Amino acid sequence: MANRLKDKIAIVTAAGQGIGKATAIAFSNEGAKVIATDINDKTLNELKKEFPKIEVQKLDSTDNDSIKKFINKFDKIDILFNAVGFVHHGTILECDENDWDFSFNVNIKSMYFMCKSALPIMLKNNSGSIINISSVVSSIKGLPNRFVYGATKASIIGLTKSIASDFVKNNIRCNAIAPGTVFTPSWEDRVRQSKDPVKAKKDFIARQPMGRLGTAQEIADFAIYLGSDESTFTTGNVFSVDGGMTI
Ligand code: NAD
Repeated sequence: MANRLKDKIAIVTAAGQGIGKATAIAFSNEGAKVIATDINDKTLNELKKEFPKIEVQKLDSTDNDSIKKFINKFDKIDILFNAVGFVHHGTILECDENDWDFSFNVNIKSMYFMCKSALPIMLKNNSGSIINISSVVSSIKGLPNRFVYGATKASIIGLTKSIASDFVKNNIRCNAIAPGTVFTPSWEDRVRQSKDPVKAKKDFIARQPMGRLGTAQEIADFAIYLGSDESTFTTGNVFSVDGGMTI
C-alpha cells in the first residue's frame, strides 16, 4: 500500500464486479475512503465481506432521484469513478429504439446524473477528479457489431471534455479511460452467449496486439493515477489502456 489516495473520498459506480470492483479495492488499498455502489446488492455485500473498510451502497445509476439523495449526503467528494456500462451486440439494423434508449440511459445518462450531482460538492471544495470509463470502441475506433455501444462510448468522451472545459478553473479535472478488451464477468458472459465460444474467445484476444486480454487491475492502476495528485496537470483527455489495440 502506497497511500497515493490518502484521505480522499471516492465514489465508485458498477463496483459489484469487473473494472469497478477492482478499482474500488485499489482505491481503498491506496488509502481512500471508498463508497462502492452498484445496482446488485448481492455482489456489493460480497465485496463488503471481503473488504470491510469499503462502504457499500445499492444505487441504480439511471435513477436520478436516488442519486441526488445519495450524493447530497456528502460534504466532500474527491474522486468520482463512473464505470456503469452495457454492451449491446449488433449493427444499426439490429438496434431498435428500445435498445438505443436503454444503452444511452445506462452508459451515458447515468454519467450525466452522477456528474451533475457530484459537481456542486466538488465546486464547494474547489477540487475533484472525475474518471469516466469509455472504450476504445467509441470515437477512437469502430468495431463490427458494436453500433450503439460505440455511439454511447463516443458520447462519454464528449461529456468528459465538456466537463473538463467548464470546470478547469475550479481545480476539477475530468478524464476518460478507454479500455481494450478486459477479462471481466460480463466479458465471460459475452463469450458464453456467442454461437462459437472458442472462436469468440480467440477473436477477442486477437484484437489486442499484445495477444491477451487486459485485467481489471490494469484499468484500476491507471485510475489510481488519475484520481491522485500525481495527475494534477491532466484534464479533458482520453487514455487508451488497450494492449496496443490503437497503435
Ligand atoms: P461488468 O459488465 O462485468 O459489470 C458491470 C457492473 O455494473 C455490474 O456489477 C452491474 O451490476 C453494474 N450495473 C449495471 N447496470 C447498473 C446500473 N443501472 N446502476 C448501477 N450499477 C449497474 O463490467 P466491466 O466489464 O468491468 O465493465 C465496466 C465498464 O467498462 C463498462 O462501462 C464497460 O462498457 C467498460 N468497458 C469494459 C470492457 C471489457 O472488455 N470488459 C472494455 C471496454 C470498456
